[in-house]
Amino acid sequence: MTGSFSIARIPQLHFGPGKISVLSSIIKSYGQKVLLVTGANSFLSSKYGVALIEELEAKGFDIIQYSVSMEPTPSLVDEAVRSYAFSLCDVVVAIGGGSVLDAGKAISAMLPLNEPVKDYLEGVGTKPAHLGIKIPFIAIPTTSGTGSEATKNAVLSESGENGYKKSLRHNNFVPDVALIDPALTIGCPPSITAASGMDAFTQLLESYLSTTANAITDALAVEGLGRVSKSLRTAYRDGSDIESRMDMSLASYLSGITLANAGLGLVHGFASSIGGFFKISHGVICSSLMPACNRVTVRKLRQARSNDVALFKYATIGELFSGDGNKSADYYIDFLLQLIDDWTVEMYIPRLGSVGVSAEHFHKIVRATDNKNNPIALEKDEMIEVLEVAV
Ligand SMILES: [Zn+2]
Repeated sequence: MTGSFSIARIPQLHFGPGKISVLSSIIKSYGQKVLLVTGANSFLSSKYGVALIEELEAKGFDIIQYSVSMEPTPSLVDEAVRSYAFSLCDVVVAIGGGSVLDAGKAISAMLPLNEPVKDYLEGVGTKPAHLGIKIPFIAIPTTSGTGSEATKNAVLSESGENGYKKSLRHNNFVPDVALIDPALTIGCPPSITAASGMDAFTQLLESYLSTTANAITDALAVEGLGRVSKSLRTAYRDGSDIESRMDMSLASYLSGITLANAGLGLVHGFASSIGGFFKISHGVICSSLMPACNRVTVRKLRQARSNDVALFKYATIGELFSGDGNKSADYYIDFLLQLIDDWTVEMYIPRLGSVGVSAEHFHKIVRATDNKNNPIALEKDEMIEVLEVAV
């Protein structure tokens, strides 16, 4: 943990069941013309979606709809920007899962430029950095996972042999408003609740353990992890349980703040490389790698004894999840590792082997993988070991 740090701005937050009702008044503060980015059909065909569109039209807003059916690619963003650059939208509103929010975030950032977004992606683009001028952006999540509603980056990918998964990033790209209505996540199916919920879990844990964590992100991460501990499996088993949906919605939002300000670890290093080569959802990649990444990291921390703060933090979270006092640090660490294993089994998280990753891909994946801010850097042979367990 570092004693010297900065915290980026966070979105204006509206949180709670039924909060979608304030959307029209928020939009009104920006203007009349709205670019509404949604998933292909799930939200718009829901009772909330139908009622929302009717309400906005009845109030005289001029709505342009753009739907996104996959994790966003640069060409998807470019197509939207080309189509609507001259429409002079006052605000971009994205309602959906992480892919939809990232698409909306990137579109709001590129509309004023009307240039190919690839030119501005980290590690890919060749233009000078984006200046951060954008159309105001409102993020409304319908899943609880990526935390995109609080982050300053939009992740775009081009999958395939020379694929990549990279970010368009600027402090100004933090959404202006996050409207989080946990009732909108009630229709989220168990498999997506599990994978996205484990992604939020990973994001909170990795930013808590990050070499650039700070006192503020630590406090938020512990709060978020407490809610994951209490409510992820309930939300998975009974999607209509609004209390657990509220906990997971807040955990996801907090994970966005902590990852934007403290960074992430090796699970997300892999998510970037594997997500570039394969069309596998971000939540599935992260949740399938979480058990082995943490086991190998803890083993190396115990051997090296060079970062006892990280082991202390692992123990702190293990104690939080166990709900049991008076045990040793090692007990709590092992408890947490076993719990992560058990949850991935209980919630039927797919193994990477079942979604197309095999031993022939390991070296290529490892060459493209960054340790990010993992509490201890893993060597290439240790990363291979993680992949061997996760397939
Ligand atoms: Zn993630």
